[in-house]
Amino acid sequence: MSRITFQSLSRRNEIGCNSYVLEMGSTRIVLDAGMHPKVEGQLAIPNFNELRDLIVDAAIITHAHLDHSGCLPLFQRAHPEAEILMTEPTAALVDAMLHNSVNVMQAKREQHNLKDYPLFVHSEIERHERSWLYRRIGIPFYLGKDQIKARFYDAGHILGSVGVLLEKDGQRVFYTGDVQFEDQTMLQGAEFPQEHVDVLIMETTRGNAARRPDYTRDSEMVRLAEAITETIAKGGSVLIPVFAIGKTQELLLMLHEMHRRGLLPKHAPIQIGGLSAKMTALTDKFADAVRRHHHGVKLSELEDLVATQKKKGPARTTYAPGRIYALSSGMMTEKTASNDFAFQFLDNPKNALLMVGYADPDSPAGAILKAQPGDAVTLDQSLAPITLRCRVEHYDFSGHATREKLVEYAKKLTPKKILLVHGDRPALTWFQDHLTEALPASEVIIPVPGDILPLMS
Ligand SMILES: [Zn+2]
Ligand SMILES: [Zn+2]
Repeated sequence: MSRITFQSLSRRNEIGCNSYVLEMGSTRIVLDAGMHPKVEGQLAIPNFNELRDLIVDAAIITHAHLDHSGCLPLFQRAHPEAEILMTEPTAALVDAMLHNSVNVMQAKREQHNLKDYPLFVHSEIERHERSWLYRRIGIPFYLGKDQIKARFYDAGHILGSVGVLLEKDGQRVFYTGDVQFEDQTMLQGAEFPQEHVDVLIMETTRGNAARRPDYTRDSEMVRLAEAITETIAKGGSVLIPVFAIGKTQELLLMLHEMHRRGLLPKHAPIQIGGLSAKMTALTDKFADAVRRHHHGVKLSELEDLVATQKKKGPARTTYAPGRIYALSSGMMTEKTASNDFAFQFLDNPKNALLMVGYADPDSPAGAILKAQPGDAVTLDQSLAPITLRCRVEHYDFSGHATREKLVEYAKKLTPKKILLVHGDRPALTWFQDHLTEALPASEVIIPVPGDILPLMS
């Protein structure tokens, strides 16, 4: 038996800059190196100072969303000794995300006078990525001095996403990363280990909301198709804010299915732009190589559907009626295509803003959801508010597991300890209460950021 400890480098218990340190014997492994999506400057970075003067053997990046990968260049700058491991699709997406992040930070530097932005530059990403190591799902590999046995499992969350199982002397630790157990339109649900583990480190994103009991993904899709059809018939357009990776591609395939089933008007071009277009091209690159539905179908070849904006960078999308705009980011954060486009869009009562993913209450998308028709909403702190006059609706096509499915999964693994991460306070508390009741023999812990938590001795 060897000593195992856990430390969260996140700054608060929330969905922020995810990064965790696991020590197994004398091997030190960092799980994810995210950047906080809502905070600027040093507070957006995990507390890597905790690792100062320490050797890190390896860092594992579970998937390409920025809250898991966005500070990887800063980690690598401080720890050139660490092996960096991820799947090949994740590496392709992380590369594109990080380069885009440099551009976003440059824009913010000018606007908000953030002197230390960008936190890293393009050439640094290029230098670091030469040392990234690709590992396949399902094939064990070994880490550090103790030769910790590691294995990736498909997490069903976005292209390339994994959970990781780490084993030493018969002790098993599993980190879910972000997970979806149910099938999405493109991605198949997670294939996670089903046997006992000693420690389960689990995401809790959806802990604060139950799903409607009558929910089905198909009825949700039909409801979305109806809203699009009605809006276009009235002479308006539809804006669907989407995460550049994951939700954009899921939505394109969903629209493709709607077309095939005759649920959409014939002539309703779909426009994607900027980062979403790039991420869609990368998804196509792996169309034959990953476990998914519509195997081999290339989204950018669905010519009847996609009118891709070919311009590079954050080019402005201009409004036209009768169109479907699928623009990133999903939460309409400042300096992104969906935020910028909303200034031409929200005050027109013919239009419809249809949200298909999680919207943090503090984000511009969250502010719009809380607003009433006729209210002035602030989209960008440095610009004047805009009056909300268009239709607004929210749909549930989450890339995250429901809380019920996560509890069910934890019960199957009967872990000695469950560590709850990647959730806001009410979500963490819901899981702590329900897991404590469902698994009385397990210790359910909300790790305090910074504290070194002994798990096994
Ligand atoms: Zn994610
Ligand atoms: Zn996440």
